[in-house]
Amino acid sequence: MIGTEAITQQSTHEQKLDLLAEVAVKVGLGLQSGQELLMTASLDALPLGRRITEQAYRAGASLVTTLYSDDAATLMRYQFAPDSSFDHAAKWLYDGMGAAFKSGAARLAIAGGNPSLLSNQDPAKVGRANRAVSEAYRPALELITRHAINWTIVASATPAWAAATFPDDAPEVALAKLWDAIFQTTRINSDDPVAAWKTHDADLHRRAALLNEKRYAALQYRGPGTDFRLGLADDHLWLGGGTTAGNGLYCIPNMPTEEVFTTPHKDRADGTVTATKPLSHQGTMIEGIHVRFEKGRIVEARASRGQEVLQRLIDTDDGARRLGEVALVPHSSPIAASGILFLNTLFDENAASHIALGQAYSSCLREGDKLTPEQLAAKGANDSLIHVDWMIGSGELDIDGITAAGVAEPLMRQGEWA
Ligand code: ZN
Ligand code: ZN
Repeated sequence: MIGTEAITQQSTHEQKLDLLAEVAVKVGLGLQSGQELLMTASLDALPLGRRITEQAYRAGASLVTTLYSDDAATLMRYQFAPDSSFDHAAKWLYDGMGAAFKSGAARLAIAGGNPSLLSNQDPAKVGRANRAVSEAYRPALELITRHAINWTIVASATPAWAAATFPDDAPEVALAKLWDAIFQTTRINSDDPVAAWKTHDADLHRRAALLNEKRYAALQYRGPGTDFRLGLADDHLWLGGGTTAGNGLYCIPNMPTEEVFTTPHKDRADGTVTATKPLSHQGTMIEGIHVRFEKGRIVEARASRGQEVLQRLIDTDDGARRLGEVALVPHSSPIAASGILFLNTLFDENAASHIALGQAYSSCLREGDKLTPEQLAAKGANDSLIHVDWMIGSGELDIDGITAAGVAEPLMRQGEWA
């Protein structure tokens, strides 16, 4: 009996992996027959990478190209490379990615790296390397943030991520728990995952439409360590769920996704904000973030752990001290309900209301994709090399919508939609 059960569980996992790949390609990416796919993944995500490759070809992909990265090789750079290495990025590679997007390729990223990979490395080197990548990747990334092409991010459980998320469990147990959580929150456990995603997508669109009718001028946040007023950008547009990309293909950019989000005004944030979850940023952990904003700008920033990384992050450029995204997520989202701190933004940002430092999404402004950088800035959209989400929502957070006339309306109470 034990043998049979083991085989059943084994095939169930394989089937779920295949379903996740199918949903990622068909629902997340909306891959079109004949379209190229550019995928990035860590070597630890090889099984899912292969499933996605198969599903993409089955859906008619003309060519699937995957760039695999290796954590051990990444660490060797910090151990052995000359100091000048850390101001360098493979620009030719990012230019090539941009060329692929321009020639019609879709983009899929498999997330799931070790959240603490670079925690013991020199923060100055980590910061320089990140900056070099941000600069080199910017032209290609802009096609993503403008939704010029269809793209999505899905996650694969990996041993290092599982160990960080479930430190008290044996490695195989931790890995199985993390896969379970991924399947649950990406709706793979439902009878018909594709149908479940369509329903969920429609719900998010409905919520965004309601907020767009309201046209709030600002949001007022109140919670433990948070007393904060955030103005919204002129002509802001709330989005949630899937979107039709510039190439006409419908994609759902994040799997999972539970947020409705828009562009705040870069000059209109005032007050104090305390993060409710640690932030894993490019392999380092930042905990206990507490910042004060004045006229949109962070004027004081503290963290109980990773203070130096936080400081370097907000010193990246002027826009790194300002907000580029505001997102609302109910405290009862399936990810919050799992009670798991994933240490991965794709999951944790969908467990709690959050704000993001840095680059704004032009698609969160009316006709935003047609505006010049100057026109975007005039409406309040922020510009930066970085975009880093951090979680400020909890079961204790109240949010009011402030109308243009200055009237406060309850929007969320104790973390739930009012
Ligand atoms: Zn977000
Ligand atoms: Zn974000």
